[in-house]
Amino acid sequence: MAVSLHEHLSLEQILRDLRISREISRQNWQRLRQLFGDRFDKAWRLVTENRVKKYVFKPSGRVLWVAIGQHAEYLIYSNAGYCSCSDFYFRVLDHEKAYCYHLLAQKLAEALKHYDVIEEEDEAYDILLGIWKEYSVQD
Ligand SMILES: [Zn+2]
Repeated sequence: MAVSLHEHLSLEQILRDLRISREISRQNWQRLRQLFGDRFDKAWRLVTENRVKKYVFKPSGRVLWVAIGQHAEYLIYSNAGYCSCSDFYFRVLDHEKAYCYHLLAQKLAEALKHYDVIEEEDEAYDILLGIWKEYSVQD
């Protein structure tokens, strides 16, 4: 089985537990470390440092997820499994792995309901999108 598919299926299983218990059991913690190694540590830091943000636009209800990285902010399309960082571009699209650590952090944060919600007007949507897209080019 391809590495990225294995990661994907294993993470989905773990996220199901997290959504119910709202915490990471010792067993799942070990599985996450085994599966993702460093990426899990980095992702977990983003979650615990509240660097995963959910932007909700009013009145449309559109949602954008953003991860605040070391050098830039990254745009995440959760459902599409997309992140704007270079790691995603080079490794995830090559199927070397299923998640960059931003995407992994977003998945964990959403399952645990541990993230900041930022409300914005719909008028700000395109402006913010433009800013985040520029960030990813600089990365
Ligand atoms: Zn990323």
